[in-house]
Amino acid sequence: MHRAESNLRKNIIEHCRWMNAVGINQGTSGNVSVRSGDVMLITPSGIGYDVMSPRDIRQMPIARTRDDHGAPPAVSTEWRFHRAILHARPEAGAVVHTHSTYATVLAICRREIPACHYMVAAAGGPNIRVARYATFGTQELADNVLRALKGRTACLLANHGAVAIGRDLKQAVWLAVEIETLARQYYLSLCIGGPRLLPDAEIERVRELFQSYGPKPRRTDSSPPKRLKRGVYPTRQSRGGSDHPDPSRRGWEARWAGRPR
Ligand SMILES: [Zn+2]
Repeated sequence: MHRAESNLRKNIIEHCRWMNAVGINQGTSGNVSVRSGDVMLITPSGIGYDVMSPRDIRQMPIARTRDDHGAPPAVSTEWRFHRAILHARPEAGAVVHTHSTYATVLAICRREIPACHYMVAAAGGPNIRVARYATFGTQELADNVLRALKGRTACLLANHGAVAIGRDLKQAVWLAVEIETLARQYYLSLCIGGPRLLPDAEIERVRELFQSYGPKPRRTDSSPPKRLKRGVYPTRQSRGGSDHPDPSRRGWEARWAGRPR
């Protein structure tokens, strides 16, 4: 195994453990893939992130083979949509899938996230769509996810969860946390009368601004923190945090607000 691939495998595990620590993974339900040349590295099925080692990360070609029996044993059951995204979206270097609570609540109700906050633009447009329901692990689900991701970098999966993509794993994890935050904010706004939505033109303006100024993940946003000791990460409680992951927004907004307009 090349050193670069070995580092990618370690990076996948670090991010998965961090996702568990901030609460956007439910058990082993989330999965992650990263592009490495012509192949993807993807988390295995049924192995807890706390005991996962770099050797447990599976590798398979991104190109679709004539039969689809070449998947390595114990690969994540969702390898089809990971592979489909990395194949169809060459700009994507990583895919993150979660069953994070608020995104999944909206997905269960098949409600897309509208332009209730300008950060919706971080996913590429004025809404975050819901992919049509199909059984987990199927090619039909992969096709539905690709459709919902058209022109976007994130979507919800009906009665299932969410997907976020990024140029690398750091950005994809950052976006997955943003999607969960937006879902929570949208859900809460529905509880007090419903949001006032931003017009498409404003989201387009924000999207253009993002291309110049960010948002960009920082270490404090979505990178796994340094381990306190082997295999142990700070939890929300030990960091004195709230019940929910608190992503980058405040830090990023502060930096962005200081920029010339
Ligand atoms: Zn899933």
